[in-house]
Amino acid sequence: MGNLVKLTKYTAVDTITQMTTRASVLGGISLDKYSIAIDSGNPLEVGFGFRKDLESFFKLPVKYLFLTHAHSDHRGGMDAFKDAVLLLSKKCKENMPKSTKFGGRTLKTFEDKFVLEEGELSIEFFHVAGHSLGSSVAYIPNDRVLYSGDLFFTEPINYGLPFLGFYQNNPRKTGNPEECLAAFQKFKSMKIDFIVPGHGEVVNNPQQYLDEQIEFFKSLKEFIISEIREGKTIDEIEIPRIGQIEKAYRIIASKSQKSRDLKFMETMLNWIKKSFYEHYKTT
Ligand SMILES: [Zn+2]
Repeated sequence: MGNLVKLTKYTAVDTITQMTTRASVLGGISLDKYSIAIDSGNPLEVGFGFRKDLESFFKLPVKYLFLTHAHSDHRGGMDAFKDAVLLLSKKCKENMPKSTKFGGRTLKTFEDKFVLEEGELSIEFFHVAGHSLGSSVAYIPNDRVLYSGDLFFTEPINYGLPFLGFYQNNPRKTGNPEECLAAFQKFKSMKIDFIVPGHGEVVNNPQQYLDEQIEFFKSLKEFIISEIREGKTIDEIEIPRIGQIEKAYRIIASKSQKSRDLKFMETMLNWIKKSFYEHYKTT
């Protein structure tokens, strides 16, 4: 028995594998004659297991593997889908490690948007960046489902805090909060019932969730800009305990062994601070 479960008529999701492996949330979309895998998991054995699960779940061959972005937890299993078309944004391809081998495989890359039409279904793929240079999402209008990749982390992973530590491979850069905000605003204008995040549990109250994320990012932006105007250096700035950060501290406070969690939290907050500071220091 695999870990995929039905989400809507055409979509399925696996939020189980992420708990015991170095893989992200995995997804699948079924069309008439084939299916689409959303991310490949990591490492390769997880990719093979996921593919087997997809094929038995939908009883269809996998025609496309869509990579939401270039991070290893999403692409590490991609060689389990060597015969499938690798669908990814141009920027995602650019952001892949230099050692990546595409040898012999069919690639379909897109700049801003690609729409796959098949019978009554259309699947839309957008490049939005924000979390990483090439971050893209898949949207199924018929089912009102958005596979967001790592634009969103939801509990219990990362305490639901955004991961903004690794935007670009070379030279390494932290995330881009303004692109995240633009993406969230775009999602707000779309009809969505479920957001499947890159990590964590499926969001089933997307409008409220998006409002909270927008509020959180806007508050951080305002705070950082005012600190920069006061002439503070990055080391003098302390990220305020607002929104999800406050919640994360509360979760950690209820634990018996706090030190490891606090250290992890500090790393997350430093990345958040760095990405906001680097982005807004020149505006
Ligand atoms: Zn990830």
